[in-house]
Amino acid sequence: MLPSPGVNTAADRTRDMSDSDGRTAYEVVVVGGGPAGLTAALYTTRLAHDTAVIDRGGGRAAMMLDTHNVIGITEDISGNELLATAKSQLEEYGADVRRDTVTDVTRTDGRFELATTEGAVTAEAVVLATGFTDARPDPPLPRTGRGLHWCLHCDGYMFVDEPVYVMGHTDAAAYVAMILLNFTDDVDLLLRGAEPTWSEDTDELVRAHPVELVTEEIESMFKDEDDPEWLGGFEFADGSRREYTGGFAMYGGEYNAELADQLGCARTDDGHVAVDEDGQTSVDGVYAVGDLTPGNKQIPIAMGEGAKAGIAIHKRLRTYPKPADQLREETVAVEE
Ligand SMILES: Cc1cc2nc3c(=O)[nH]c(=O)nc-3n(C[C@H](O)[C@H](O)[C@H](O)COP(=O)(O)OP(=O)(O)OC[C@H]3O[C@@H](n4cnc5c(N)ncnc54)[C@H](O)[C@@H]3O)c2cc1C
Repeated sequence: MLPSPGVNTAADRTRDMSDSDGRTAYEVVVVGGGPAGLTAALYTTRLAHDTAVIDRGGGRAAMMLDTHNVIGITEDISGNELLATAKSQLEEYGADVRRDTVTDVTRTDGRFELATTEGAVTAEAVVLATGFTDARPDPPLPRTGRGLHWCLHCDGYMFVDEPVYVMGHTDAAAYVAMILLNFTDDVDLLLRGAEPTWSEDTDELVRAHPVELVTEEIESMFKDEDDPEWLGGFEFADGSRREYTGGFAMYGGEYNAELADQLGCARTDDGHVAVDEDGQTSVDGVYAVGDLTPGNKQIPIAMGEGAKAGIAIHKRLRTYPKPADQLREETVAVEE
């Protein structure tokens, strides 16, 4: 049930909590308002901690035209619709949801200070939910979600028995092409004029699979005749023309880990921010969740990580239960 009028929500309490420098003092600040950050904030807010989410917008969830793999969410819901509903749920429970960018974060006297383009806030615990940015290949490219796709576990299902492409020249691109053979026997790997950088083992493997390697660069693309929203296929530099229902771009990307680096959070060899089971990073009081951390990049997983971090932060910040001795001493102190 949502809070009823008159209930003193976390946000009501927060509004009175500015420090001497005019910075709003929260218990928890979540940086990033994708599925991971919003779920962490939902838990900390509903577990009665003053919480702010600071989000600059435009993350991976916001790129989704349709949502797949999320139980209870119909597939016609776009990422932006999902996020807007989640943000208004959070606000109704009393969280502050701010459209802003966190530029710097430091730790001073046991609190975190976060500078944003609009001002500054402080927090006892910080959740980094800043995600990952996919590298985009050069155009021509179809529209994301209508012929250009970034997530095999989300969209592979769309291409059962359909002609598909994978763009890229790395080990990852070769593997995704081979994995797509589980969905369809019509898979092209588009090198776009680049030399493969994959290993010798991968080279042997991919050439042994029924994946067609297309070396020429793409000259142009054409739309699907029945549904011009969708890709129809590509024309190549040698004049050839191939039809595709869609495909995947595999050019890697970057973890949005600037703030984690500023705080000194350890990273894994492949660039993720390293965390324990609760999302706690190597820096005490700093949590990381979602695509920024190891594991499959999926909304239900991001949400699960957000939930675990939110509960862990509650256990860290909650006041009760206290040791009996301490309670007795406090009672005596009040009576004196
Ligand atoms: C096109 C596409 C389609 C997908 N479809 C599906 C699908 O159907 N089902 C599924 O389960 N998964 C899907 N995924 C994967 C899914 O989107 C991600 O796994 C999920 O969004 C990760 O959530 P997140 O909160 O970690 O990151 P994000 O959703 O990327 O959110 C991170 C947020 O942090 C913000 N941010 C970053 N730095 C700062 C800063 N310094 N200050 C303030 N804000 C900041 C970003 O702007 C962004 O809003 C898809 C991904 C893509 C790219």
